[in-house]
Amino acid sequence: SSPPGADFRPVLDRIAADIAATPGRGRPADYIPLLAEADPGRFGMAVAELDGTVYGVGDWRQPFSAQSITKVFTLALVLAMEGEALWEGVGREPSGNPFNSLVQLEYENGIPRNPFINAGALVVTDRLQSLTGDASGSLLDFLRAESGNAALGFDGRVAASETAHGDRNAALAHFMASYGNITNPVPDLLGQYFRQCSVEASCADLALAAGFLARHGIRADGSTLLTRSQAKQINAVMLTCGTYDAAGDFAHRVGLPGKSGVGGGIIAVVPGRCTLCVWSPGLDHRGNSVAGVAALDRFTTLTGLSVF
Ligand code: GLN
Repeated sequence: SSPPGADFRPVLDRIAADIAATPGRGRPADYIPLLAEADPGRFGMAVAELDGTVYGVGDWRQPFSAQSITKVFTLALVLAMEGEALWEGVGREPSGNPFNSLVQLEYENGIPRNPFINAGALVVTDRLQSLTGDASGSLLDFLRAESGNAALGFDGRVAASETAHGDRNAALAHFMASYGNITNPVPDLLGQYFRQCSVEASCADLALAAGFLARHGIRADGSTLLTRSQAKQINAVMLTCGTYDAAGDFAHRVGLPGKSGVGGGIIAVVPGRCTLCVWSPGLDHRGNSVAGVAALDRFTTLTGLSVF
């Protein structure tokens, strides 16, 4: 296993070579045309150390659509501002259902199983909107500060396309609003949520931005975002719910808290040690990057760095 301060480049080079030699990349998300255009042959991976040193391989500086990876950051911001009260409106149990599923909501009084399925993320963004008046703007400010990349932004075409194909998310939001678990007007909330999903960021940006989860809640500038206990809570929910109905398989193969997005990115955390982000747009049928999961699997196998 790698001692602290190890140079991660050799292991990243080896992983990239293994991935390049492995056939089968899955298919890009096709629920909006813009994502369907992505080339499944692309692959990038970055590792960020606690002090902000970043190592990368392949397309690690190429911005891609962060999508559901942003759910980790909105959760952190709401937990930082409103604390435990958040858990009254959203649970912490794996759903075993697809990320955009409506089932369970009716039996559970409009309270989603966890903050990483779309229903739960809509609740979190609703709270962030109430707390800040601009959920997606406060998310972007945070990502820029933590990554050190002031050029990070939204892709307006992706957000518009999400809106045009947003019936499922609109249904989820309206259904929860009927239980009083969404407090902002649903069209406003959806606008914020789709902008949030449309963040364009690279593996380097997202690995750096997730650093507070490896630093037990401490931001890049040394200030405290979360208590140690809250950082642990987020890592735990990532481990159990971060890859939807594949979370058990992801934990089995990778053994790290992780969060995927349908843009093909996955972030992962080695608490106390480093953060990772991998990107390859080809997805499996559960919406997780095929080469991304394979690369993280190789990383923990080769380095021995896992939470187990
Ligand atoms: N924008 C997507 C949606 O809400 C995000 C889903 C995802 O990345 N899993 O459907």
